[in-house]
Amino acid sequence: MIDLDPASDPGHPLETIMLDRILRRAHVVDPVNRLDGIMDVAVEDGRIAAVAPDIRETARSEQDCSGQVLMPGLIDPHLHLGTMFGSPYGSRMAALAGVTTCLDMAGPVDDIVSHIHDTGAGINVAMLSGFSPAEECGTDRPSRGQIDAAVQTALKKGALGLKIMGGHWPLALSVCRDVVASCCAQNAYVAWHAGSLTAGSNILGMQQAVETVRGLRLHLAHINAYCRGRVNSVEEETAAALSLLEANPNIWSESYVSPMNGTILTCAGENHRGEVIDHVTRTCLEGFGFPADYEGVVRAIGEGRLFVVKDTGFVSELIGGDEALAYWRDAGTAAAGSFAVNPAYSRFVLAQARRSDGTFAVDAISTDGGCIPRNVTISTGLSLVKFGALTLAEFVLKTSVNPARHLRLDDRGHLSPGAAADITIFDLQRQQALETIVSGRTVMKNARILGRGARFITTPAGVPALQAQGFKTIAVDLERPEAERIRI
Ligand SMILES: [Zn+2]
Repeated sequence: MIDLDPASDPGHPLETIMLDRILRRAHVVDPVNRLDGIMDVAVEDGRIAAVAPDIRETARSEQDCSGQVLMPGLIDPHLHLGTMFGSPYGSRMAALAGVTTCLDMAGPVDDIVSHIHDTGAGINVAMLSGFSPAEECGTDRPSRGQIDAAVQTALKKGALGLKIMGGHWPLALSVCRDVVASCCAQNAYVAWHAGSLTAGSNILGMQQAVETVRGLRLHLAHINAYCRGRVNSVEEETAAALSLLEANPNIWSESYVSPMNGTILTCAGENHRGEVIDHVTRTCLEGFGFPADYEGVVRAIGEGRLFVVKDTGFVSELIGGDEALAYWRDAGTAAAGSFAVNPAYSRFVLAQARRSDGTFAVDAISTDGGCIPRNVTISTGLSLVKFGALTLAEFVLKTSVNPARHLRLDDRGHLSPGAAADITIFDLQRQQALETIVSGRTVMKNARILGRGARFITTPAGVPALQAQGFKTIAVDLERPEAERIRI
């Protein structure tokens, strides 16, 4: 730490202090420290040294950030880095979008760990292992003991916990309940994409998930996905989702702001010409009036309702029409896709809704992106700021402060002296990420990737396996209760 008042430190003449970096004249937005104005930010040894209107010291690297907004590093609490969701380039795509830390919401852990040395962009990554009892326990109805063992296995591999993939691959409700209880008992993170064998990925599935966990802590994924007007009107479903969140503060949640969803387009049967196996894909096809099979996918692509995620060899991108059809067929139907199924109303209302106590009803803005090309927190999320639905400080609260607190990353989500120098710099007018800085190092600048690999956020149980594979780790303590939600 440096001392900003030269008179108080006569033993160290200022000329001798040489910091690593100073980012000058940025519009700094740091709600935790109530900063919202033009300041300099000094970085030393990967940590914040000082934030002040005019830092007089010099640094080995100085840069002018006039006209740019600087916030504590953007944390995306729901994205995908698993190759099956589009490409192995999710970390790179997140860094390009200004993300310094992310929570992967399905793994597979082995897949991510095997490719991220080469494909990673140097951001911090926490992983949840998508729970597949048939694969992991040899049965769709595992016992509590088998579930406990699956949680342990995931933690030892380096996962932060488990994700129930209910909406896409439904499980029995009793299994879902046991997974949440097991994770809570073992201090593992647990998330649920609502849906089970008895409710879909919709507002009824959300209601069922909230009732099923009976007060246990749970990250309920992408609330906007349950407010697509599948059961009642979009307005009624959004109101119902908000009252569930108001009444159940044990639920931590995010919603995303892209109109596009993300789903798997694999078909079963001989030559993959049969039924679509992913339940979200089935619901989307049927919602647009197509059959939930191979022909339905062909028609949905042909009529411009469905886009396919293409691995370009550097990132993934959405393609449509004949190009999409050929890509999907060449992949033997095993490709990811996106439908434009998220209504503007629910995305907008969920992004800015408050509880009666003044906290945000939905805790964070996520992307559900990564290698699914919709990393739009800055490019679309800042429209909420321009519209006046969120102040810049509130935007930072939902995209950095709240997810940092939820992940128990005490030295992130703010720019206090000593905090990790994770910083996102963006252009508010153009709604574009300009620079992504992780622990003081630039990993992305002006659309160029400069970082490599990843640092993993894990539980103490996951540290040995990840370090043995050459990764740096940040161990978090999920046993510790979360800090109270911030009132706005
Ligand atoms: Zn997801």
